[in-house]
Amino acid sequence: MSAAAWEAVLARLDDAAELIGLDPDVHRILRNCERTLEVAVPVRMDDGRVEVFTGWRIHHDTTRGPGKGGIRFHPDVDAQEVQALAAGMTFKTAVLDLPFGGAKGGVRCDPTKLSLGELERLTRRYAFEIAPLIGTDRDVPAPDVNTDGRVMAWLLDTIAMTTGQHQSGVVTGKPLALGGTRAHAGATSAGVVVCVRAVLRQLDLPLAGRRVVIQGFGKVGGPLAFLLSSAGMRVVGVSDVGGAVFNEGGLQPSELSAHVAEHGTVAGFPGGDPMDADDVYELPSELFVPAALGGVITPAVAERLAAKVVVEAANGPTAPAAEPILRDRGIVVVPDILANAGGVTASYFEWAQAKQAYPWDDDVVADRLRQRMERAFDDVWGKAAALDVTLRRAAFALALERVAAAIAARGLFP
Ligand code: NAD
Repeated sequence: MSAAAWEAVLARLDDAAELIGLDPDVHRILRNCERTLEVAVPVRMDDGRVEVFTGWRIHHDTTRGPGKGGIRFHPDVDAQEVQALAAGMTFKTAVLDLPFGGAKGGVRCDPTKLSLGELERLTRRYAFEIAPLIGTDRDVPAPDVNTDGRVMAWLLDTIAMTTGQHQSGVVTGKPLALGGTRAHAGATSAGVVVCVRAVLRQLDLPLAGRRVVIQGFGKVGGPLAFLLSSAGMRVVGVSDVGGAVFNEGGLQPSELSAHVAEHGTVAGFPGGDPMDADDVYELPSELFVPAALGGVITPAVAERLAAKVVVEAANGPTAPAAEPILRDRGIVVVPDILANAGGVTASYFEWAQAKQAYPWDDDVVADRLRQRMERAFDDVWGKAAALDVTLRRAAFALALERVAAAIAARGLFP
């Protein structure tokens, strides 16, 4: 699976390289990761045994700035998956024109089976082992799957304890008490909303009353339902791991949130009718937002998807083989590296505030996030029109042009 993820990244890179006529030398450079650090992470478990986990921190390309990318704790993580995710960050940061390169980290472990103490010892030892690669101007981790602000705080503290220096910019997604940014939590959803507004405007579909179906009601899908509903859209269907609900008149997001808080799933929500989670694709709507897992829009799903527009909040929700089907059916797809980049943009702002040692007001963060996302959307839309390609191919082409320009400007060391 993870080998496939790396192959998929290479396929996108190769396609974009051909599209923009990339210098073959630069192409060869970018088909490799700059550096891969694999570390053994011995942890004293609560029962007295020592268990040794494997972790990675990988830089794909850091020509445009310090590495940026999350750290995930998951039993299936391996080097190739982390490589693929690191390369994805090279492209995502370039699409948004953030001064970062692409990096990612992971530890192969099952955090649901670790006590809080074991999780802290694992995080701190992993942080110590990858310390040679990270730093405010070297590589700046953030939360990802199964990691959060608390894990980032342990990372910051470990670096501070071992170096004697408090580096506030060494991680982002920190708790507010350590200089985290309040707008960080909802930033991904806020960025998705900017893309929804922009794409519907381009397609002459006014927002008011339009129907949206959201897959996933977690950290991204939950706030998103609320934001899109507040903007006047009708959230007609929502699915999650436990099932799905629909209501042609619009589901009430705050009531749905309260139901999920109590029952752990949208299934059984009395403000709508139950349906099979797999049937949400066929609900007639203007907009479908996958905000759960990768790979869900398979060719078969692409054939029966009833929406006009897909805005990818999840990472990698569309299987490459499904893309031509969506294109031929006239379904416009705003790709993940643009649509869900609100989170990394908020991370950039948090890092910038740390470097300035001067926090910005919340409304400044929100305004700048909207401006950045709007500009990136316009850049990608314009590129797609100029090249006469899908928004996804245009986003990769644009990102690659920016990375290639930076490589050309710096030249090859030595
Ligand atoms: P989360 O764990 O908070 O929520 C995931 C949601 O998906 C849950 O509602 C879960 O029930 C649902 N889900 C799981 N399996 C499902 C299934 N088979 N069918 C339908 N729903 C299912 O995760 P999140 O942070 O909201 O992330 C969602 C997606 O967005 C992921 O792909 C993630 O990589 C991506 N993303 C998240 C962020 C962020 O800031 N959290 C940033 C960029 C991208």
